Amino acid sequence: MDLFDIFQQYRIEKTRSEALSKAGEAKQRTISNEINISELEAKLDHLSLVCMAMSELFEEIGFSKAMLLKKIEEIDLRDGKLDGKIAPTNTCSSCNRIVAPRHVSCLYCGTKINKTNVF
Ligand SMILES: [Zn+2]
Repeated sequence: MDLFDIFQQYRIEKTRSEALSKAGEAKQRTISNEINISELEAKLDHLSLVCMAMSELFEEIGFSKAMLLKKIEEIDLRDGKLDGKIAPTNTCSSCNRIVAPRHVSCLYCGTKINKTNVF
């Protein structure tokens, strides 16, 4: 085996080692992503149950699905876009006004914003 062969063998081993390392990292990321997806699915299931319970309770006390859909659209439009998403906001515990998440206190009354969200 000449020097070139030794160098080539070294490069092959180094590349194989790096590939194995990358494969291990990719496998770990896959496992981590699967765990995150499972957690999100559990949260989604919980939120779906909460929404279904609220929807049925609202109907029992006289609110219709049409009223619920209208309210969903109204909330969706609060950020100016009807896109099925909500912009993160906080509500002032003192005056109940909506405050953008970048503010630490209410712009209207100065109350410190508690950033915990029920959902
Ligand atoms: Zn306020």
